[in-house]
Amino acid sequence: MTNGSDSTDLDLDEVRARYREERDKRLVEDRDRMLELTGDLAQYLEDPYTEAVAREPVTDDEVDAVIVGGGFGGLLQAAYLRKAGVKRIRLIERAGDVGGVWYWNRYPGAMCDVQSYIYLPMLEETGYVPTQKYSLQPEIYGYAKKLAEQFDVYPLALFQTAVTGAEWDEESARWTITTDRGDVLRTRYFLIANGSFTTLKLPSIPGIETFGGKMFHTSRWDYDYTGGSSDTPLTKLGDKKVAVIGTGATAIQVVPPVARAAEKLIVVQRTPSTVWWRGNGPTEPDWAETRTPGWQRIQRDNFTLLTAGIRQPVDLTRDGWTEAFQQLAGRPEFNELSPEERAAELEKIDLAWMEGIRARVDEIVKDKAKAEALKPYYRYNCKRPAFHDEYLDAFNRDNVDLVNAPGGIDRITEKGLVIDGVEYEVDCIVFATGFDSESPYTDRIGFDVIGREGQRLSKKWEDGFRTLHGAMTHGFPNFFFNPANNMQGTATVNLIHVLEDYAIHFSKVITELDRRGVRAFDPAQEEEDAWVERIMSTSRLSAAFLEQCTPGRWNNEGHLDDRSARNANYPNWNVPEFFKILDDWRDTSFKEQIDRQLQPS
Ligand code: NAP
Repeated sequence: MTNGSDSTDLDLDEVRARYREERDKRLVEDRDRMLELTGDLAQYLEDPYTEAVAREPVTDDEVDAVIVGGGFGGLLQAAYLRKAGVKRIRLIERAGDVGGVWYWNRYPGAMCDVQSYIYLPMLEETGYVPTQKYSLQPEIYGYAKKLAEQFDVYPLALFQTAVTGAEWDEESARWTITTDRGDVLRTRYFLIANGSFTTLKLPSIPGIETFGGKMFHTSRWDYDYTGGSSDTPLTKLGDKKVAVIGTGATAIQVVPPVARAAEKLIVVQRTPSTVWWRGNGPTEPDWAETRTPGWQRIQRDNFTLLTAGIRQPVDLTRDGWTEAFQQLAGRPEFNELSPEERAAELEKIDLAWMEGIRARVDEIVKDKAKAEALKPYYRYNCKRPAFHDEYLDAFNRDNVDLVNAPGGIDRITEKGLVIDGVEYEVDCIVFATGFDSESPYTDRIGFDVIGREGQRLSKKWEDGFRTLHGAMTHGFPNFFFNPANNMQGTATVNLIHVLEDYAIHFSKVITELDRRGVRAFDPAQEEEDAWVERIMSTSRLSAAFLEQCTPGRWNNEGHLDDRSARNANYPNWNVPEFFKILDDWRDTSFKEQIDRQLQPS
């Protein structure tokens, strides 16, 4: 499938005005206010998938590495440390098993819209053959468990366990980690792989506590109530009116199966997503035998560079993502233009692309009013794009309504939702409202980290992140973390690419520290300052683009400020370039710092 031409006759000024008008409708105060899930509301955080199991507290003074988080980030850290010969690795995870987002997000239709061949990590080492181009949740979750088994993570793992504190002890050069199960672990290396989508977000809508029906968040799906499973039909919704709130990447996947099962479905939309084609299908029978050694890194780099808008001689993935970003990158001759001329050409291409996205809505959705409401009016890169072949078609069903709520929901009553003064009565409200990405880091991970001289991480980062490479921070030795989004690290469409490369980086750093007999490594303050400055100066360049965007996670809900400049990613999604910087750092500055540290005084 292709998205028409890369030019358009539309008047750019008119389009800009329309985009501004749509943005302004959504720039309402407190649009991002979350409910604090404490007291009675803590029930919305409970794990519906695994029974709680009692156990005795663990005391362990001989841990080599404690990893917090059992998603792919933590599993990859464990796998690469294991490969490097690190023996006692303890993984701590709040959930009942590994899997991270793929443990929690078992909502109907859950799948990954990044191709399984480049999403599922270490396929060459595990020999696993994904069953389809885009894996469904059960396959991805199963693969996470397979990695945990292959790299021997289970024997020392602590599940259903939340870290409550982490403190550095200078004398012994050890971290002491405590948990809500009474565990006390002393470790040489402390790693956090918390992920970007950990703390679910329920919006603070007036009256939410008065609703008399069923409510849950997509990451805590109640299959007792709906029947079915993430990949089988929902059997108990035939007499239920359901509202799905939100139209992000999750809702796009949830809506079709709920539409098929419910008596009535109301989709509450604040901002429409861009929904392009997906094209799933089974893995080709000869897929495995046509791979050559090193294929996964080659294909992953190729995908990542294409989605960073960097031309490649060939597109090895050929899907909606690579199609979109190749088109939006413009043409080679644009390199001859001034920055202003190039920006103008790219804006025209963006408009043509978005016209194609909007035309697809008209092609699929028969009801003109619904189609109009489902069209996104902003530039493509303002929000995370979505890809699905059944979402738009779900609105052709008689039992599915779309309620447009650009300014949000007025209130929730005992019987349902009130939007623009109209009450919609429902039996069940599903919150597809995403995850907290704004609260302070230590609130999101649920504990503070205390480094050298009693310094608290919450204090150090109270005005924004201060990191080296989004992965270490001065004053906190032997401490490594996978950056969540906007933590001065790198980002890309295929997050696993980043997680695996960080895991490789950490294992190389730790191997070198062990080889040289370094007890404590603390990245230099000047280097951290320089990195923060580098992130701030580059992020200011993209601020002009983001400021004009519809409000969302990528532009601090429409309010960019100095803190947003600091809390940003390395620019351009160029992951290979980013990790080359880290490779060079290990070969130079890191070694020099170790040499200085080991010099006899
Ligand atoms: P999300 O992208 O944050 O979307 C949340 C949705 O809820 C948005 O439509 C938002 O509207 C709406 N919303 C939030 N508060 C609201 C309120 N008070 N009233 C009405 N609507 C409200 O969350 P998500 O869809 O769960 O996705 C989270 C992340 O998970 C994504 O960025 C993606 O990276 C990842 N994900 C990936 C896949 C995959 O296939 N790889 C699938 C699912 C999710 P606005 O747009 O107006 O803010």
